[in-house]
Amino acid sequence: MSKFWSSLARQVNPYIPGEQLNDETIIKLNTNENPYPPSNQVIQAIDKESKNLRLYPSPTIDELRSEIGNMYGLSQDHIFIGNGSDEVLAFSFMAFFEPGKRIKYPEITYSFYPVYAKLFNISFEQIQLNDDYTIPVEHFYDSDGGLIFPNPNAPTGIYLELEEIKRIIENNPNHVVIIDEAYIDFAKESAVSLIDTFPNLLVIQTMSKSRSLAGLRIGFAIGNPELINGLERIKNSFNSYTVDRLAIAGAIEAIKDNKYFQQTTSKIIESRSYLEKQLEARHFDILPSQANFLLVSHKEVNAEILYQKLKKQGILVRYFQKPGLENFLRISIGTPEQIDKLLKKIDHIIKPSP
Ligand code: PMP
Repeated sequence: MSKFWSSLARQVNPYIPGEQLNDETIIKLNTNENPYPPSNQVIQAIDKESKNLRLYPSPTIDELRSEIGNMYGLSQDHIFIGNGSDEVLAFSFMAFFEPGKRIKYPEITYSFYPVYAKLFNISFEQIQLNDDYTIPVEHFYDSDGGLIFPNPNAPTGIYLELEEIKRIIENNPNHVVIIDEAYIDFAKESAVSLIDTFPNLLVIQTMSKSRSLAGLRIGFAIGNPELINGLERIKNSFNSYTVDRLAIAGAIEAIKDNKYFQQTTSKIIESRSYLEKQLEARHFDILPSQANFLLVSHKEVNAEILYQKLKKQGILVRYFQKPGLENFLRISIGTPEQIDKLLKKIDHIIKPSP
């Protein structure tokens, strides 16, 4: 450890991202990327914009904000844009959660939350999930400093109904409630419809999953203009150009090409039920997912060993070395061809020929 590190740098345990291997022959089902590429329209828009790289991007990102707002019938004042939703999350922790006050989030959830809480000196209470891995709604009432959870939750994939979310917000009238909707386009419905009713609700979404743009890094928050202003203040204190010209151009086009988005999203949802049925037939236990991944376990198969064996055979899934998730694997939904290859390898591993 460097003697030059501050105590903050010493204390924080950074987030460990999923493996990114530069090998195109690997079937990569470990970080919930979209298995389909961005549409041609998006590629062309990025290509065209590359001629303008001499110029700074727009600091206010008006066009993209208004495209995103239009999707939900909201003005651009309700939209904040950042460099991936990870950055939007970081700004939201800084803007809405007070150092010293205690926020709540689920014990099994996105592992960036504890990193940000520690980084910004925010205390936290991790709420244990119910035995069936659902969120215990009442335990999120009356938080001391706000709360956050993904819907669908990650890595469980379990979706919480809007009625329940409403109850959580109603029971936290004085704090900001953040719903991280990274996977919402694969699920029933977004909480954005509640924004008009609840000025303390902030919804965060991303173009990394359903819009096939993980490499472009565009995330956004949707909320009451007062909350959005808070985020702008934080952003402008760091860097008013949070996103670049290529990202803005690609993201605008990804929203405009709604047909492609609908097609790829439906294919992923179909493949999710196919994979679920196939794994069930192989006696896996599967949590009911409304995301683009499944969290699975098998009573007779050690998850870590299965992960290692799949990796050796060119298929990468996610194994978490975390309490509560020891015997689970998270499998991102791939193309039908990738899923069939995965199933063949699984059959080979768990039923070796005599
Ligand atoms: N929230 C959740 C729950 C996630 O799983 C992820 C992806 N790892 C993110 C946010 C961040 O996504 P991105 O920064 O690519 O928008």
